[in-house]
Amino acid sequence: MADEVLRVEGLHKHYGPLHVLRGIDLTVRRGEAVVILGASGSGKSTLLRCLNFLEMPGAGRIHLEGRLVGREARDGRIRYPNRELSALRMRVGMVFQQFNLFPHMTAERNVMIGPMKLRGLSEAEARRVAAANLEKVGILEKARSYPAQLSGGQQQRVAIARALAMEPSMMLFDEVTSALDPELVGEVLLAMRQLREDGMTMLIVTHELGFAYNVADRVVFMEHGVIHEEGTPQQVLLNPQRPRTRDFLRSHT
Ligand code: ADP
Ligand code: MG
Repeated sequence: MADEVLRVEGLHKHYGPLHVLRGIDLTVRRGEAVVILGASGSGKSTLLRCLNFLEMPGAGRIHLEGRLVGREARDGRIRYPNRELSALRMRVGMVFQQFNLFPHMTAERNVMIGPMKLRGLSEAEARRVAAANLEKVGILEKARSYPAQLSGGQQQRVAIARALAMEPSMMLFDEVTSALDPELVGEVLLAMRQLREDGMTMLIVTHELGFAYNVADRVVFMEHGVIHEEGTPQQVLLNPQRPRTRDFLRSHT
């Protein structure tokens, strides 16, 4: 469908004998924010890492903007040619719990480096792109600061700007506020909320249930590598149908 940015069908992932993703089906439409909840170890990070090809997916299919990613071999398995992967990673931005900014570069430089190296932008163009994206996350005034001069919340917003500067089709967020001091969580969630309002397509792993309730179009509850329950935030958070979802919510509120 034209408005589908991501469609995942029957995705599996093994680590050796460990069957971590056991048939994930998930669609994210343009402009949608989908929140993934689930206990530690349920496979949330593995799913996001497969969608950004930091991990090679096992069986199953991933469609990005209506196109199958990789090539289907005769045996029906999908091969992911190496040369396609860097282009794919540009189309799917990812932000992690650990911000991993380059410590010897200013915030602005951290955001400029990807567009210059991977999108071929000139220094001047990259500077404009950096300014626009630092502005989007409300941190333009820190453009010339080094990561060590920024709070965790500010660093995480720079990391978001850095991902946005690649002009991805969608953004993946993996517990981006989990490493922050509690008083810094709000500013990062606010920046993500603003992105949602700007129409960015987002797939977000978080334990922030208030954020999920207020910002998500859909909430997905993962359990042991499958999607156990999904629906609107009202359905999943206020009226969960399955006992495991209820147990999870009880232990997180
Ligand atoms: P979550 O993000 O929901 O906490 P993960 O996707 O990180 O879950 O992990 C799911 C399962 O896969 C866990 O049992 C974890 O130990 C295992 N796992 C994750 N990454 C690896 C890896 N690189 N090698 C082996 N096992 C892994
Ligand atoms: Mg995780």
